[in-house]
Amino acid sequence: MADIKISNLHKEFGVGDDKVVALENVNLEISGHVFVSIVGPSGCGKSTLLNILSGIETPTSGSLTITQAGAQAAPGYVFQAARLLPWRTVMDNLLFVQADKSSETRARCQKYLDMVQLGDKGDKFPGELSGGMQQRVGIARAFSIEPDVMFMDEPFSHLDAITARSLRRELHSMWAATKKTIVFVTHDVGEAVELSNRILVFAQGGILKDDINVELDFPRDPSDEAVAVAKANVLKKFEELDLLAT
Ligand code: ADP
Ligand code: MG
Repeated sequence: MADIKISNLHKEFGVGDDKVVALENVNLEISGHVFVSIVGPSGCGKSTLLNILSGIETPTSGSLTITQAGAQAAPGYVFQAARLLPWRTVMDNLLFVQADKSSETRARCQKYLDMVQLGDKGDKFPGELSGGMQQRVGIARAFSIEPDVMFMDEPFSHLDAITARSLRRELHSMWAATKKTIVFVTHDVGEAVELSNRILVFAQGGILKDDINVELDFPRDPSDEAVAVAKANVLKKFEELDLLAT
């Protein structure tokens, strides 16, 4: 469980007429065992924020700390594509990111493969698996290093609706079982409502517009009335903020 503190975080790309403000002085705190979703229309800075949190991008100005019990927190990442090494088996893809290859480490990798229902696929190569299975391997790999905080950028957006739904359920049980802090980017309000206790709404220009708590029990079934109402309420806020795609 991590503590994230973001102060006056600002990010611009390009110069002069080409200048784009991707994040506009964002202030934010995320703390403890929470599932936070970042939602907003395409181009509103979601990936930029996640990339800065992950250390892939540097901010133009502002500050950022990610700590666990006062020390630097260990992050894990999952992106839109699994980015597996095709010439290594599933198990070897997980072992590749570990500090050691001891039998304990191997058992830990197996535990996370079991969690994503791929316990028997360790000897397969990525090319032998479906897109959904490859994404599951990517998720198992990210959890297998047991990070304090997990950053996920639209991890299910390339999957069909049914596969995405079962992966959301799995991810949610992993979040509950491992007590990680998860920061999850999505453009899908339904997905955010199903998964999160907190939804941060961003608008064009990288402006944090709203910070919504969703206080419903987990697991949430999207066909459940309370979940549908929560989704409608978030969409209403989108409408009020003029964020719906036209
Ligand atoms: P989102 O993930 O919400 O779709 P991004 O964070 O990818 O949005 O992009 C935010 C804005 O910053 C967009 O206008 C995008 O074109 C711009 N941008 C993102 N990355 C770069 C980059 N490496 N160089 C120039 N502009 C960028
Ligand atoms: Mg993006």
